[in-house]
Amino acid sequence: MFADELRSRTVGDTVTYVVNRNINFASKCLGTCGFCAFKNKDGYILTIEEIMAKVREAKQANATEVCIQGGLLPNVGIDFYLEIVESIKAEYPEIHIHSFSPMEVYHAARISGITVKEALFRLNKSGLDTMPGTAAEILSERVRRIICPNKLGTREWIEVIKQAHAAEIPTTATMMYGHIETPEERIEHILIIREIQKETGRITEFVPLPFMPYNNSLGKKLMEGGRYATSGLEDLKTYALSRILLNGHVDNIQASWVKLGKKLAQFALCCGANDLGGTLIEENISKSAGALNGEWISKEELEWMIHEAGRTPKERTTLYKGVHKLAVANSKKIPRC
Ligand code: SF4
Repeated sequence: MFADELRSRTVGDTVTYVVNRNINFASKCLGTCGFCAFKNKDGYILTIEEIMAKVREAKQANATEVCIQGGLLPNVGIDFYLEIVESIKAEYPEIHIHSFSPMEVYHAARISGITVKEALFRLNKSGLDTMPGTAAEILSERVRRIICPNKLGTREWIEVIKQAHAAEIPTTATMMYGHIETPEERIEHILIIREIQKETGRITEFVPLPFMPYNNSLGKKLMEGGRYATSGLEDLKTYALSRILLNGHVDNIQASWVKLGKKLAQFALCCGANDLGGTLIEENISKSAGALNGEWISKEELEWMIHEAGRTPKERTTLYKGVHKLAVANSKKIPRC
């Protein structure tokens, strides 16, 4: 398969993963996303001390990264986000803080009456290392008007990501596919990511995320029309497409074992993917939308899955430091799309 050949020539046989922990600091949210099963009007908001207790657990489990995201809260501006980052860095300066979606940064800036640029500058100064490129869903105004009308638009998402890169905060990039978008809109989304990368070079990985249809209004509507989740075959084709369109630009394609399940995630390694994401410890967002694959996986099991796929496991840092030396040596031979 062409995608697998490209993966092999670009990043070799190493399959990476990161030991990390997710922390969702609030399940209350002002948002109205039709695909969300996590938001809860009677939900929780963690205090800084409760967040720190989870960070300490992460350290005990040898996590190198914490990924913190939460709902959009009224009257909670940039100071709360800064306090989270500063509290963590004061106790654990070495831990990598990979936190806050472009939507959260946009919201925090708006509540605080400052620009996104200023918010990012302050977050960076406080110790924010990288940001997840979530809240991207599908970067199409038509789709966003239907599935997440109150979220930042395509233009704003691109702007927050580019501004983060300008503030020396690398990001990942994601795509939540398999709901109402057309194949063209899916391709357009991936091409937008490629264009950003050509300009900034600070996207560390691309993560295609299949839509989870349970316990949310968008999924209910689709299921009434006879559409369930994406099929496994469609997932694998989307991974292959991502590798083919992004190869030579964003070379790390992550298969989410939480969304795909462990066995399909392992198979995705033969369809262009070269990373299995994190061990997680805690996962709430996919679980509430029907994911059945657990909230934690051990390093040992991840490494076993990778070995069984005939590949070489390697624990990585969030920034993939020291991985893919082969890719650099082979870079001149890599076909670019
Ligand atoms: S997806 Fe995020 S922003 Fe949208 S409603 Fe859910 S928690 Fe809020």
